[in-house]
Amino acid sequence: MSFAESDDPVAISALQHYRYCPRQYALIHLEQEFLDNLHTQRGQLAHQRVDDPGEQWERGARMLRAMPLYSHRYGLVGKADLVELHPDGRLFPVEYKHGKHRGKRHDYIQLAAQALCLAEMTGRPVTAGAIYHTSTHRRQEVAIDGTLIADVVATLAAIREVLTSGALPPPVRDHRCDECSLKPLCQPGALNAAASWQASTLHAALFEPEEVSDGPCVSF
Ligand code: SF4
Repeated sequence: MSFAESDDPVAISALQHYRYCPRQYALIHLEQEFLDNLHTQRGQLAHQRVDDPGEQWERGARMLRAMPLYSHRYGLVGKADLVELHPDGRLFPVEYKHGKHRGKRHDYIQLAAQALCLAEMTGRPVTAGAIYHTSTHRRQEVAIDGTLIADVVATLAAIREVLTSGALPPPVRDHRCDECSLKPLCQPGALNAAASWQASTLHAALFEPEEVSDGPCVSF
C-alpha cells in the first residue's frame, strides 16, 4: 500500500483517536479542537518521562526517547515514546499509557503503526512492542502480527475517507463519551435530543390535518 505524494501524512496518534471514536478524531485532527480533562492530564503525566528526546543504556539495551517516526509507504508520521535497540538487533517500541492494563485495540493499533514506521526507517522487521502502564509499572507485550497490521491499514483507509469527505462523523453516544474530554464541545446528548425533537416534529407535521379554506379554489 502506498500513498500519492500529494497526500498529507496521517499522525500516528490519529489512528488511536479514530479507533476510539471517529468523531473524536475529526474534532481533534480536522477541526483542531482539544480540551483537557482528568484522563488527558493523567496521560500527559504518564508521558513526562519520555517526552524529552534523548537516549540512555538500560539492561544492556540502548533506549531512545521521543523518537521521530515516519513511513512513506503507509503515509504516517509521529513519534515513539521509547524505542529499545537490543544488542541482537531487535527494535522494540514502547508506548506509555496512564492507568492499569487496559487491553484496548486502539492502543495496539497505535503501537503497530510505530512498528511499521520503525521497520521502514531501519529496514529491519519489528515483530513486537509493548504498552507500559505507568500506574502499575508493568508492561504488556504485543505481537505485531498480520491481523494487527491489516487493522492499521483499514483504519488508515477509513481516516483518508473522512479526510476526503470533510464530513464530521456522527457521535458514538455510548460509554466512550463518559471519559472523552471533548464531550462539552461534541455534545453527543444534545445532538441526540435535537435528532429526536426533529423526528417528533416531523412526525407531528405529517399527521397534522391541512387547513381547509372556504374560498374558491384558484388555478393558474
Ligand atoms: S463525546 Fe462521545 S461522540 Fe463525542 S467525540 Fe467524545 S467519544 Fe466521540
